[in-house]
Formats: sequence, C-alpha cells, structure tokens
Amino acid sequence: MTMVNARIESTQELLEEAEQSILFTTVRPGIVMDYGKEMYLWDTNGRKYLDFIGGWAVTCLGHCPEVMVKALTEQASRLINASPSFWNKPMIHFAKLLTDHSCFDRVFFASSGAEANEGAIKLARKYGSIHRKGAYEIITAVNGFHGRTLATMSATGKEKWKDLFEPKVSGFKHVPLNDIHAMKSALSSNTCAIMLEPIQGEGGVIVSDEGYIKALRQLCDETGVLLIFDEVQTGIGRTGKLFAYEHYGIEPDIMTLAKGIGGGFPLSALLTKEKFNIFEAGDQGGTYSSQPLGMEVGFAVVNEVIQKELANNAEKQGEYIQTKLYSIAEEFNLKNIRGMGLLIAFDLPTDSGSEIVSECLNHGLIINSPRPNVIRLMPPLIVEEKDVDVMDEILTNALKKILS
Ligand code: PLP
Repeated sequence: MTMVNARIESTQELLEEAEQSILFTTVRPGIVMDYGKEMYLWDTNGRKYLDFIGGWAVTCLGHCPEVMVKALTEQASRLINASPSFWNKPMIHFAKLLTDHSCFDRVFFASSGAEANEGAIKLARKYGSIHRKGAYEIITAVNGFHGRTLATMSATGKEKWKDLFEPKVSGFKHVPLNDIHAMKSALSSNTCAIMLEPIQGEGGVIVSDEGYIKALRQLCDETGVLLIFDEVQTGIGRTGKLFAYEHYGIEPDIMTLAKGIGGGFPLSALLTKEKFNIFEAGDQGGTYSSQPLGMEVGFAVVNEVIQKELANNAEKQGEYIQTKLYSIAEEFNLKNIRGMGLLIAFDLPTDSGSEIVSECLNHGLIINSPRPNVIRLMPPLIVEEKDVDVMDEILTNALKKILS
C-alpha cells in the first residue's frame, strides 16, 4: 500500500520533523515562516516580524509583491521551461532591459550568485588563455565573499574557510581591500583578473574607497587585466544607484548580479562588454540558464525597481536609518556607522551581535549580525520612514537590555 504523506500543520511537529529530515548546515531559531506581505513576515503561530534583512538582501520589492505574483502566475501558465537550447521571449526582453540600463552589452543568466561568479571566473580564465598567454590567476580581497561552490569558496577571502574542503581550486590570491600597493605587488603575468565586491557585504559592510577603485581601473587598463565587480549584494538599487559601480565613476569589465535581481526568485546574471563575448559553444551553460519563468519574474522585478525609482528610496531611507543610528550611537557606544543606501552596518562595543539579533527577533524585528560585534541592516527597497521608526524602537530597547 502507498503511504500518503499528510501535511504537518502544528509548529512543534514541523520543528521536530525539520530536526530529523533537513541536512544540518546552520542553526535556525525555533520559528517556521509561513507567509509574507511587503515589509512583514508571519510565522506558523501567527506572529508578525518586521523584516530588516529582506531574505538576505533579496526581497527588494518586499514579500510577495503583486508584480512578481502576476509575472509568476501568468508565465507559469504560458511556458515554464522550453530547454536552454531555445531562445524564449522573456530572456530576450530581460537581457535588453539589463543592457539598456547598465554599461554592459551581453548577459548570461543563471540561478545563484555563486553560479554567476563561477561564470565570471571562467570568462576571466578564457580571456587569460586567449589574450594573456594562459594567465589564470585571479586576485580577490581579504574578507570578501563570493559564494559556496568550491571555486567561489576559493575566491572568497574568509580566514575561517582557509583550511575547509582542501584542496581548494588553485589560482586565487587574496590581498587587503583598499590597499593599491598590495594589489600591485600581487599582480603578475599570471593574473587574468581582479575580482571584488565594491562593498563587502558578508564581511561586515566594508566600503571600497573611490580612489582605490579608480586606481584599480587604471591598473587593469595598463596591464590588460580584467576588473570583475561582484554586485550580487550591491546591485539592483541596494546602494542608492542601480549598480554600485556607478558611485565610483568607472566601468568594470564584468559584473555579477543575484539576490535583488529576482526579488526572492532564484536568479542571477553575469554581464560583460561586447569585446569579452568570447565563450565558445559549450564553455558555459546550465539547465536552468535563461528559463522563461525566471526571466519573466526577473524582468518584472528589475523593471519595477527602475520605474518606481527605488534606488532613490534606498538612498533616502538609508540616510534616515543612519541618522537614527547616529542619534543613539553615543548612548550605546556604537562605532563605525557605515554603508551606502540600504546596506548599512555598525560596530557594537562587545561581541553581543547574536544576543541583540535574538532579542530583536523576540520583539518582532529581523536584523543580522555578520560578525560577532557587527549589526547589519538590509531591508527591502520599499521601506518607509514608519518602518524605520518601528525598527529603531525595537533595536534601541534591545541595545538597552543587552548592553547595560
Ligand atoms: N557574492 C556576494 C557578494 C554575496 O553576498 C553572496 C551571498 O551572500 C554570493 C556571492 C553568493 O550568492 P548565492 O548565495 O546566491 O550563491
């Protein structure tokens, strides 16, 4: 007899089943998220949470926005996947939207940030093999983050990952961010590219200096090395411009996007200039690359960000959040309030980040602590002043309780 799997409804049973059947990769609080709308999430007990991490800088339009629901449902009943070997209308519309609004000419679509970065690494190596006598090394930044596949973990400059999953993919060197001399010393005839996040997100919101980025662009122009910007976290309006490279007055040769590009739907992209359109058939691909459902959703999300000028809202609300943080900084000894747009962090006087995150969660606010003494805020781009005021009240109470 076939066993019928009844859907579990009680939160306690769901949590027990989760502990038994989900492969352990991380510690999660005893909460099961059930539904969401705009800035809020609700759990299976009906508790409401103000979301200031936005699905990890992903739900740029908030939870379940109508434009996404419409694009998903209409495209799902038209065509979900025709195979990556055919063109489809949404992939062409979406590529045009992205190239029309950026300095790039060509797009490759994938499903996650790590996958887009793998593509960028491969494109840079292809370029090295054609134009730089087989150069294959990529220089990345200490404290940077590029994903969790083997190559992107190797590219990532996280000290804690140094000895994990050895042997790593070879060909990556790490240098401190904002140190042009270190970059110049690391660069050699083996280098095909420099790859970095304009603002290190997972590393605690560390902003690259304008002078440093301009010097990197010049160095790349002089040496023929490619400049890759990983804008997986900073792209699609997050920093107050559609792409963070616009803050620096330069153009990278390759840019990767994920997170905000799908508004919560798994989607990523690698963008480059016409002169680097050098893959040969079979070099790069993927079963889900450019699948119509994702393409239609991505188009709807990015188009909405552009039409509603949400990058401007990110800049405005980001300033408001920073003003609020500065007004409580002295009382709680908060240091280094930093960031751009809606990618903001500050340092705590103690390693109490996870306690503050838990205290806020208990009072219905979701924030993040990427390092033990750092709090990071990355709310949806639709956030309004009234949401910031609620966040500020809950956070202030949590700081009072934990730090005093
Ligand atoms: N690059 C950056 C800058 C990121 O912040 C992340 C994820 O946080 C990644 C790459 C990896 O993206 P994904 O988790 O979608 O593979």
